[in-house]
Amino acid sequence: MKTDVSGLALWQWRLDARKAAVEVDVSVTEVDWLLQEVAGIDSLSLRLESFKERSQIELPYPLSVLSEIWQERLDNRTPVQYLAGVTPWRNFSLKVSPAVLIPRPETEYIIDIAVEAIKNSPIPELELGEWVDLGTGSGAIALGLAEVFNSAKIHAVDYSPDALAIAKLNAENLGLEERIQFYQGSWFSPLLALKGKLSGMVSNPPYIPSSEIPQLQPEVANHEPHIALDGGIDGLDSIRYLIETAPDYLRPGGIWLIEMMAGQADTVVKLLQEQGSYCQIQIYPDLAGINRFALAYLKLA
Ligand code: GLN
Repeated sequence: MKTDVSGLALWQWRLDARKAAVEVDVSVTEVDWLLQEVAGIDSLSLRLESFKERSQIELPYPLSVLSEIWQERLDNRTPVQYLAGVTPWRNFSLKVSPAVLIPRPETEYIIDIAVEAIKNSPIPELELGEWVDLGTGSGAIALGLAEVFNSAKIHAVDYSPDALAIAKLNAENLGLEERIQFYQGSWFSPLLALKGKLSGMVSNPPYIPSSEIPQLQPEVANHEPHIALDGGIDGLDSIRYLIETAPDYLRPGGIWLIEMMAGQADTVVKLLQEQGSYCQIQIYPDLAGINRFALAYLKLA
């Protein structure tokens, strides 16, 4: 139900929404983000408040509905990305729903690490091969890989059929659906035919210790899928599994690349070393300086 509102009315709405946000300690920048997504107002005219001068701004629904959405954000601590149904990630606008973890800005960097990793790989032409994103969720990592490795074949696995539906939608919206094959199942289990063939495995697995999940901010703890967060007692269940299983699926020289939590890097390096099949193990920090990513290569036979 499209509605036109005056710039002044929307400016007043923004002011009220910002005040309400401050009261409950929600970032006021989220108001602008919602206005960008819903009303298509660019960030500069929000910053300069020049949208206030416009006589008409088209909204997809009445201002009262926008108020209800914002109230829901503040009262229930629903992530604004779920309410808008989208999130920016790298240069994509990705559809999200409560069936998928909201892709985080820090995870964007894993794609750049994969590109870097290829340059240092002990074998050539990895970018032409087969890559897998395990626990793809919204499809973010698979889509990022498809974009940067434009000759690779990308496989994306998720346990949740609802998540896969979102991931497929994102692939279609970005015109990348021909490049990615989707599978429902647990980790490597749908990929038996690819044993020994993968050039790279990339994953942002669940890595938060179960007991820490209730203490996360309510936006995460009460709204995001726990299957995407819960890494068992010490948070490392999935990562241990990926360390143990990937050597069966990677080709010699193939890349093993994951995201992890602050404080896990030392243990992950130790587990990779103890497994015995990996070489050139490296840790990469995220932009906040937290050791966030682990990279290794399968030893050449
Ligand atoms: N980075 C996410 C968070 O902090 C967790 C994602 C994950 O467990 N892979 O909420």
